[in-house]
Amino acid sequence: MEAPSGLPDYHVHTFRCGHAGGASRDFVRKAIERGLSEIGFTDHIPLYFLPPERRDPRLAMREEELSGYLAEVAELAAEFAGKIPVRLGLEADYAEGHEDELARWLARADWDLVLGSVHWVAGDWIDAPESAARRFASEGAERLYGEYYRLLAKAARTGLFDVLTHFDLPKKHGHRPARALEEAEDEAIAAAREAGCAVEISSAGLRKPVGEAYPEPRLLRRLAAAGVPVTFSSDAHAPAEVGWGYDRTLALARDCAIERYITFEKRRKIPHPLPA
Ligand SMILES: [Zn+2]
Ligand SMILES: [Zn+2]
Repeated sequence: MEAPSGLPDYHVHTFRCGHAGGASRDFVRKAIERGLSEIGFTDHIPLYFLPPERRDPRLAMREEELSGYLAEVAELAAEFAGKIPVRLGLEADYAEGHEDELARWLARADWDLVLGSVHWVAGDWIDAPESAARRFASEGAERLYGEYYRLLAKAARTGLFDVLTHFDLPKKHGHRPARALEEAEDEAIAAAREAGCAVEISSAGLRKPVGEAYPEPRLLRRLAAAGVPVTFSSDAHAPAEVGWGYDRTLALARDCAIERYITFEKRRKIPHPLPA
C-alpha cells in the first residue's frame, strides 16, 4: 500500500556507498509517488577515522566521490524544484577521538542536515551481520549496549549532528541485554536534549532481523517525554525503500504521544504538527 504521508524521508543513500543500488533520480521519483513532503540524501561519509587500507568501499563512499555526490544532489534539487524539495545531507559516523577530523569533513559543504551514527563500537562494527553474533557472544550484550550508548551520548555532545540515527541500533540482529540499560539510555537521551539533536523514527529496523522500527516504543516514549524532537526516515538503500513502512512508523509516533516532527533547511529546525 502506498501511504501518502506528507512526511519527509531524511535518510537516503546513493550507489556511491557501495551497498545501495538504483539511480538517485529514482529515489526522488519514489518520494513523490509516495506523497512525501521532502527527500534528504544522506550518503555514508568516507571512513575518515580508519587507516586508508581499512576503508572498505562497500561500506561508504570514497573520498574522491564527495564532489560528485554534492553535484548530483544539487542537480536533482534543481530538476525537481517545485515538485519536491531535495535536501543535502550526510550520514556521518561518530568515532571517538576523531572529532576534529569530522569537523573538518563537515566544513566541506553547506548541508541541510547531518545525521550522526554510531556504528563503530569498541573497535569494530556493531551492526555487521558477520561480526555481530560473534561479538555479542564473546563480549556480552550489556557491555556492547553500554558502550554504544556512551558513544551515542558523546556524539550528541559534540554538537556536530542534527539528528541521531537508529537510536537502538545494537538490536538490529535481535541481540538484547537481559534488562534494558536505562542509565546508559538516559545519558544518551539527556545528551540529545541538551545538544538540541533530533532522533529519527526509522522504518529500517522493520526490514532487519529484529523486525522493529528504531527506536523501540519504550525508548521513543522516553525521548518524547524528554522533549527530544523527532523526524522520519527509511534509511533507503534502494528506490523502493524510500518512504517505506511509514504507515507503521506514523502509527508508532502516535502511540508514543508524539505531536510534532521537524524538518531541516540549512541545519535550521522547522517544526510541523504530525499529520492527522
Ligand atoms: Zn548503508
Ligand atoms: Zn544509513
